Amino acid sequence: MLVVMKHGATPDQVDGVVSAIESMGYRARPMPGAQRTTVGLVGNDGRVEEGHLIGLDGVLRVIHVSQPYKQVSREWCSEGTVVDLPNGVQIGGEDVVIMAGPCAVESREQILETACRVAAAGATVLRGGAFKPRTSPYSFQGMGQEGLQLLAEARDETGLAIVTEALDPEGAVLVAKYADIIQIGARNMQNYSLLRAVGRAGKPVLLKRGMAATLKELLLAAEYIVAEGESRVILCERGVRNFDNHARNLFDLTAVVTVKEVSHLPIIADPSHGTGARSKVGPMARASVAAGADGLLLEVHPDPSTAVSDGQQSLNLDQFDKLMGELDMIAGAIGRRIARTAIAPQT
Ligand code: PEP
Ligand code: MN
Repeated sequence: MLVVMKHGATPDQVDGVVSAIESMGYRARPMPGAQRTTVGLVGNDGRVEEGHLIGLDGVLRVIHVSQPYKQVSREWCSEGTVVDLPNGVQIGGEDVVIMAGPCAVESREQILETACRVAAAGATVLRGGAFKPRTSPYSFQGMGQEGLQLLAEARDETGLAIVTEALDPEGAVLVAKYADIIQIGARNMQNYSLLRAVGRAGKPVLLKRGMAATLKELLLAAEYIVAEGESRVILCERGVRNFDNHARNLFDLTAVVTVKEVSHLPIIADPSHGTGARSKVGPMARASVAAGADGLLLEVHPDPSTAVSDGQQSLNLDQFDKLMGELDMIAGAIGRRIARTAIAPQT
């Protein structure tokens, strides 16, 4: 249950609600928001006297949220969340946002060449890991802060926004200084201290589905971030573990549709990690847009055969160009458009 305070409710009025909830034997969790404060009532066993709470000073209304995730649910907010980026692009609105770039930042030349080409083709966000979560400790772990600086240089050059991954709470503070969106990878979806840290870092968060996570777990992970005060959370379907071996992961496009039904958060799709094979990326990218994804996260590399990570699932620059033309048509067919910045050339 959520007790929504009126806009401009005083701290004393919020305290009054907290005391009332506690005196009823439940835990109260005040959640200050941009517009108004909400007080979550935790542990409702169905015997809560709603009338008592509605009558308290400063209370606007009481909402019953049936899902275990509260603030990220559609019940909590029927309108879709729209995340504004500094380059004017919106995620979760009408337009489909294309985020493209290499798995990892490898060099100045590599990231600048990729950034210029994906921007010219119509991408609006540049991806690239500076801190890489690798399965083996002996694999390339990323360029670290130097990689973040190169991403910032690419942003200055192209007008692209930057999304890049943070691996731990200390790293989140550093990544937040450079990134426009902080990425939480599949391996860290349930790293709750990291989720809390990015919830306080002051930047939008791209939260990828864990490789064996249910949608409920994904949404509860998002709830951690929102509960810390960061409402700009973008979910990402990137495939889950599977008993078959025809693809790296089972790319679950039903997740896109289901999340839209049960949550107001935007959801994008990552067919690169979702399929793990270049030949499958284009078809599943097109399918993701057709299914209603608010954006795509695509791995693109100037020379995938030399990529230090995920080359097998990276498109080259020409393949990306061609795919963008196809995505324009798919988006148009469902009454959407591919998002553009003022800076990237309009096609
Ligand atoms: C990535 O985006 O490069 C990445 C590591 O993805 P995931 O966390 O989905 O495996
Ligand atoms: Mn990758």
